[in-house]
Amino acid sequence: MRFLPIKDWSPGYLYVCPRHVDIRVRCETCGIEKDFDRDTLPIALYRAEVEDIERRLKCACGEKKARLLFGHLEAAATDEKG
Ligand SMILES: [Zn+2]
Repeated sequence: MRFLPIKDWSPGYLYVCPRHVDIRVRCETCGIEKDFDRDTLPIALYRAEVEDIERRLKCACGEKKARLLFGHLEAAATDEKG
């Protein structure tokens, strides 16, 4: 699977983001990217602005430079030609 972000798009608020949109979180400092599970968020944050949530996410490296990416996970087999 690879992640295809929707370029320059954000729902603004997480709770208005459609369920079919996959979310990843990336640390702008160390570059680590991982799946983001919106269901693990406290309700208070779920209703917050995306930018506000990004400010609260702390990476394993200790930095708070998270960026939420919205897009789709796609199976790579269909378009990888090697
Ligand atoms: Zn990091």
